[in-house]
Amino acid sequence: MGFLKTIKKDLDAVFERDPAAKNILQVIFTYPGFHAILIHRISHALYTAGIPLIPWILSTLARFLTGIEIHPAAKIGEGFFIDHGMGVVIGETAEIGKNCLLYQEVTLGGTGKEKGKRHPTLGDNVVVGAGAKILGPIKIGNHVKIGANSVVLKSVPDHSVVVGVPGKIIKKKVMRIVQEGIEETLDHVRLPDPVEEELHELREYISRLENRIEKLEGKGGKVKIFNTMTGKKEEFIPVRTGKIRMYACGVTVYDYCHIGHARNAVVFDVIRRYLKYRGFDVKYVRNFTDIDDKIIKRANEEGITWDRVVKKYIEEYYHDMDRLGVERADVEPKATEHINEMIEIIKALIEKGYAYEIPEGENKSVYFSVERFPEYGKLSKKDPKELLAGARIEVDERKKNPMDFALWKASKEGEPWWNSPWGKGRPGWHIECTAMVIKHLGESIDIHGGGADLIFPHHENEIAQSEAYTGKVFAKYWVHNGFITIDKEKMSKSLGNFFTIREILDRYDPEVIRFFILSTHYRSPIEFSKEQLHDAESSLDRYYSTISRIDDFLTHATDTGKKVEISQFNDFLDRFIERFEEAMDDDFNTALAIGHIFELLKEVNRFLDLKPSGEEAKKLLIMTKEIFNTTGKILNLFQRTPEQWNIDLLRYKKIPLTELDIRKKIEERRIARQNKDWTRADSIRKELEEKGIILEDKKDKTDWKVKI
Ligand SMILES: [Zn+2]
Repeated sequence: MGFLKTIKKDLDAVFERDPAAKNILQVIFTYPGFHAILIHRISHALYTAGIPLIPWILSTLARFLTGIEIHPAAKIGEGFFIDHGMGVVIGETAEIGKNCLLYQEVTLGGTGKEKGKRHPTLGDNVVVGAGAKILGPIKIGNHVKIGANSVVLKSVPDHSVVVGVPGKIIKKKVMRIVQEGIEETLDHVRLPDPVEEELHELREYISRLENRIEKLEGKGGKVKIFNTMTGKKEEFIPVRTGKIRMYACGVTVYDYCHIGHARNAVVFDVIRRYLKYRGFDVKYVRNFTDIDDKIIKRANEEGITWDRVVKKYIEEYYHDMDRLGVERADVEPKATEHINEMIEIIKALIEKGYAYEIPEGENKSVYFSVERFPEYGKLSKKDPKELLAGARIEVDERKKNPMDFALWKASKEGEPWWNSPWGKGRPGWHIECTAMVIKHLGESIDIHGGGADLIFPHHENEIAQSEAYTGKVFAKYWVHNGFITIDKEKMSKSLGNFFTIREILDRYDPEVIRFFILSTHYRSPIEFSKEQLHDAESSLDRYYSTISRIDDFLTHATDTGKKVEISQFNDFLDRFIERFEEAMDDDFNTALAIGHIFELLKEVNRFLDLKPSGEEAKKLLIMTKEIFNTTGKILNLFQRTPEQWNIDLLRYKKIPLTELDIRKKIEERRIARQNKDWTRADSIRKELEEKGIILEDKKDKTDWKVKI
């Protein structure tokens, strides 16, 4: 009866393990795994009874039928199931416990030629994945799971999961909630690989070390930049170690700057500041386009010379940018100071066959031949053929290709001109950047930046003429900032939906504009609205109010002996700079970096709410201020005292009071309160409040702030 009972258990195991098993007949007739164990049970019984030959004939027959080879001597417990089964080999001295499951191509084999026990022993409830090899007289414990293709050479304790080559015990298991509770299984598809995991950890460790070494050597860390040229975020590796040459296309000086110009200037200002902070030696060049159709037009409108227009609007540019905290570039060249350099480049381009002349009266214009530069379109990902099809109709017939662009323009009546090999004329727009980049930074630079609207045609043309001229890669990383939109439409002068910087600065503190710009990642569009500016203003106010709270604590707090839990706040501070750098390293994510700063503000306020006391708390708050200072400097935000912030707000909010007026009122109120003249004290408070000033009574003084 024992024999039949065992067979019954084997059959049950099939139904338990294989969801495809439908009925007993199907299993009996079509399951090779079942055939193999059935024949093995018989051959093993005969083998144990000492009957010669027949057990071997039976096992050979089973091997032919099923592709499963089990030595008649192998001891196998009840409830055994081989799923699929082809290629399974079970050696002579192998022993298998109850309710085990093997998949195809599993080997329970030996490693040597010595007699005696040389095959493994499996405990109960062991699962062996497809292709796994368990070799030698080792012991596999109960409830062990062995991953597919693992090679196990050492004994394994109960309840382990083994994967990899050589098999390693891991703890990682897939937890599956079944009706009976939680079940641990092994995901054979996404098999954890301990070797790969260790390698991964090592790689991460090496990368952290590299970062530290680079930081110590002053080379900066692992900055990643989104490169418009490749359309990917790439690890930033400068052309020359430690040195960065960076160029950003500046403004055409014929009008006041608008908020779009402010964004571009602030973005590249922060990129430069951060790269410097990262230890790079940065040379930054930002040009002025001081000869252009628009400048000539403006000069004619205003009845002044073109150079007066230029002078005026460069002054206005500096006036706006200084207020926005945009640091001057290392070199701020003007196009017209580089006429000779441009002429030299244009001459060389004609000699090399990249450019051609078109006579215009006594003078000539020079055009760049786009067809001669097969890579044309590589930055903007535009196909020159498609561009041609879409080109506007009013094309100059004399051009070889409608896409060809002017390097030199023959002089027209009433226009400024310079002498050249092509007679009187002036440079085209694009050539000026090539000349200024090469002169001030060299033929191959690291970063070339600008607004996204410059990608085509300006930057595409810069690349064509520069690379045709030098035969070298012009810029390694192309960085472009996104647009500012109003009602989801791109803000631009041509659409007429723009705000000049000074219009906004009439109502808002410059730091509000800077904060508004940096609160969004530089590549994303920003929707410009009063609400957004107001939000930026409240955020800054929250910052300065918190600093004021810290200052109060540092100057007035007495040691009450109260000990509060500092570890959470301490941990937060410890990790802070690293998190800030991580955000900035990731393609200058100022939005995330500012997010971290405001998280820190929340933590500081929470900490102060606990009413901490003592030296340790003081130390932490001093450290907090230092962190704010370091990170604030990179963004060039948060550089004032809370008092100065409020004094400046008086001006922008057009409150008709000076700081002195307010101080006088506060003093009046203090005396009234001293005399218990509560009515008077109250009316002073109300009077100030109506004008937008809030009083805050503190332990030994009264502070004021502007209502946001
Ligand atoms: Zn340019």
